[in-house]
Amino acid sequence: METAKVIDFHSLSEKVGRFNLKDKTCLIPEMNRIGCHLLAAVFRGFGIHARVMETCKGQDLGREYTSGKECYPCQITTGDILYAMKEERERLGDAFHAEDYIYFMPEADGPCRFGMYNKYQRIVLDSFPELEKLKIGALSTKDGYSLAGIIDDSRVRELRKTAYFSLVVGDILDRLLWRIRPYEKTPGAGDEFIEKAMRLMESAFERFGPGKDFESILKQLEAVIAEGKGIVDPVIPQKPLIGIVGEIYLRTHVQANQDVIRVLERYGAEVVNASIAEWANYTSYDRLREAKARFRLSLRQFHFGPLKRFLKDMISYGGDFYYQGFRQKKTYQHVHSLIDLPEDHEIGHLEEILKEKDLFSFEVGTEACLSISGIVAYARDGYNGVVNVYPFTCMPSTITSAIVRPIMNELGVPYLDTPYDSSVQPGREAAIRTFMYQAEQHFRRHGRGKGSAQSA
Ligand code: SF4
Repeated sequence: METAKVIDFHSLSEKVGRFNLKDKTCLIPEMNRIGCHLLAAVFRGFGIHARVMETCKGQDLGREYTSGKECYPCQITTGDILYAMKEERERLGDAFHAEDYIYFMPEADGPCRFGMYNKYQRIVLDSFPELEKLKIGALSTKDGYSLAGIIDDSRVRELRKTAYFSLVVGDILDRLLWRIRPYEKTPGAGDEFIEKAMRLMESAFERFGPGKDFESILKQLEAVIAEGKGIVDPVIPQKPLIGIVGEIYLRTHVQANQDVIRVLERYGAEVVNASIAEWANYTSYDRLREAKARFRLSLRQFHFGPLKRFLKDMISYGGDFYYQGFRQKKTYQHVHSLIDLPEDHEIGHLEEILKEKDLFSFEVGTEACLSISGIVAYARDGYNGVVNVYPFTCMPSTITSAIVRPIMNELGVPYLDTPYDSSVQPGREAAIRTFMYQAEQHFRRHGRGKGSAQSA
């Protein structure tokens, strides 16, 4: 008896992994719009033909080829890649060859489902004969998102440094928008400005990124910030400050979270979302932490064989982590001479928060480590409320919610869970309005603490 579909599991190892991007088109799914476009620009600067795929245009395809049990970001990105391929096929006709593309879908090594997206999508792609040869480029948290193998070895370190810098600049542009939009003189000016700013920074990264001319990129950023400040109406009084944590895709993908930041702004908030660089810093920190633990254990057990490997890992991950901290700090220092944008909390500081009352452990991993500690840090910094944004049924975010609710009650800081899927919850706007009423009361009683300034 023949089965309707035979799944070839070799495909998961042969067509999912790190592949050289030479002469390929690298398709990047849009998550946080600005950061993804800057990353694509960095890749282009290094000679990789990269572009960000349109998002949410293929939602019907995403729904058709998922069962509804997958995490929401998996459904959206499945739709994005199928739609992008459909468009390319229509555009190129017989000249379309799936092997000319690499679809970029990173992964995490657990314990939640992020490691399974690219496996699942591989099975979906293999069910279309014309897409079987489309490879999935998977960078993993397992090795701290190493880029080794995707371009010539001699340029990997430069690419990594420039890509990280683009994440930081992307975060800064996002924070600039959230800082100015609630206070804009002309409605819509902030959005219009940031779109133009993103294009300017893309050109800067494409031009100056390969030579690591970060000073020229910073100069362009300075000009952008100066223009952005001009949009603010100084007469509008300060507003309650709201922090956002949660699952990285949902909290940064505007369509997926139904533009939650704008909805909060509509009800009187100024918002700061957790950054993308925070996740990159966390993965490097965590790999370093693991390498140190393994080294110590081997030493204690007199297993001298693997010591050299663990030491090498410590040097490599330690180098990444300290470089990232240095670059991020330096960039924010530069920006702070121009505008008061909040900085990220340091990862070591977030781990300390968890340890204080044994709230959670970095040993468990996932974004719950950052969300739980991030919520407590926001509250201590004087934020007037915190929103946890995540996909419906997301494991780390549900854990976060269970742990922080009693803490926030105790601290007397308003807190809201906002799980999303592709449906629109009728009571969501009312919940946000009520939350903002509470945040406004908190703001009147306590002010904004030091939340609006650097909070590291
Ligand atoms: S973080 Fe949440 S949404 Fe993302 S893969 Fe894990 S369980 Fe799914």
